Amino acid sequence: MLIVMKADATERDIAEVERRIAELGYRPHTMPGASRTAIGVTGNDRPVDITRFETLPGVAEAIRVTKPYKLVSLDLRPDKSVVRVGDAEIGGDELAIIAGPCAVESREQVFAVAEAVRRSGARFFRGGAFKPRTSPYAFQGLGEEGLKLLAEVREAFGLKVVTEAVDEASADLVDRYADVFQVGARNMQNFSLLKRAGRSPHPVLLKRGLSATVDEWLLAAEYVMAEGNYNVILCERGVRTFTQHTRNTLDLAAVPAVQRISHLPVVIDPSHGTGKNHMVTPLARAGVAVGADGLIIEVHNQPELALSDGAQSLTLEQYGQLVQEVRAIHEAIAHAPVG
Ligand code: PEP
Ligand code: MN
Repeated sequence: MLIVMKADATERDIAEVERRIAELGYRPHTMPGASRTAIGVTGNDRPVDITRFETLPGVAEAIRVTKPYKLVSLDLRPDKSVVRVGDAEIGGDELAIIAGPCAVESREQVFAVAEAVRRSGARFFRGGAFKPRTSPYAFQGLGEEGLKLLAEVREAFGLKVVTEAVDEASADLVDRYADVFQVGARNMQNFSLLKRAGRSPHPVLLKRGLSATVDEWLLAAEYVMAEGNYNVILCERGVRTFTQHTRNTLDLAAVPAVQRISHLPVVIDPSHGTGKNHMVTPLARAGVAVGADGLIIEVHNQPELALSDGAQSLTLEQYGQLVQEVRAIHEAIAHAPVG
C-alpha cells in the first residue's frame, strides 16, 4: 500500500500515519517529495485495509500497489531521486563520473590514477579491494589494505570512494572506509548482501546482474530500500547475450526503461559493458546521450600491466579525452529543446 499525503499535510499528520502503520506490525517508508509526501508500507504479507488510512487527517489517498515493487517506483516518488554523497551527488544536474582502476593494486597505482581523475573534475573514485573473480586463482584484491589506500586517496584528492563488498565481513570494512557501497553484478541476487547493504550508512551502487531482467534488478533495489536505505544508484553494466564481439551487451535501452518506472538514478558502465578499450569511449558517449545520470569507467596508469580488466581499462590520456567528450554531450542534452 502507498499513502499519498495532501500537499498541506502537517508533520503530525504524517507521524500519525506512520504510527498506525507500525501499530499493524508493518514498516512505514516516508518519502518527502517536491509537492507532497508519500508513505510506502512494507512488511505486510497480505493486502492492507486501505479504508483504515483514507480517513486520517492529511491523507489524500491510499493506493493498493499491484506491481511487485513499491519503494523504487515513481508512484511513491514522482520526482527523480538525487543521491547525495557528502558534497557530491548522483542524479542531479551534473553528470556524475566515477573513475578508477578495476582493482586497487598499489599506492603508486591508485595515486597516479586518482590524480588524473581529480584533474578531470570527476568527484568519485572507484577501485575494488574485494574482487569477485571468475577463477579462484586470479588476483582477488588487496582486502583491507586496499581499502586503506582508497581512504588515503579520499584524503589526498577529496574524491568519494566507491568500492565493492562481497559478504558480511567485507561489508563491515566497506562501511568503515568507503563512501559508496557497491554490490557487484554477480551478487545482484545475493539477498542477504542486499539486506546488509540496506543497513549500510552509505549509498549503494547496485550493478545489474549478468542476466537479470529490469524487474529483477529493480526488485534487488527494493530489497535494499526495504531495509531503510533509500540511496540507491542503479548501474547498467551489460548483460550476457549470444554476441562475441563484446564481453557483454551494454543494454542502453535499460536507461529509459528504468526511468519510466523508477525515480532512482542510473549510471552506465561501458567498461564491463564492452570489455574492450576501443569501445569504452563510444559507448560512454551513447550512455550519456541516452540519458544516464553518470558513468563508471575503468582507468589504469599502465593498462598492459593491470592485474584485472586491463583490456577494457582506459589510459589516463584516453580517460581525460572521454570526460571532455561526454561533458559536451551532457551539456547539449541539458540545453536541448524539450518536445
Ligand atoms: C566492478 O565494477 O569492479 C565489477 C566487478 O563489475 P561487475 O560486478 O559489473 O562485473
Ligand atoms: Mn573490472
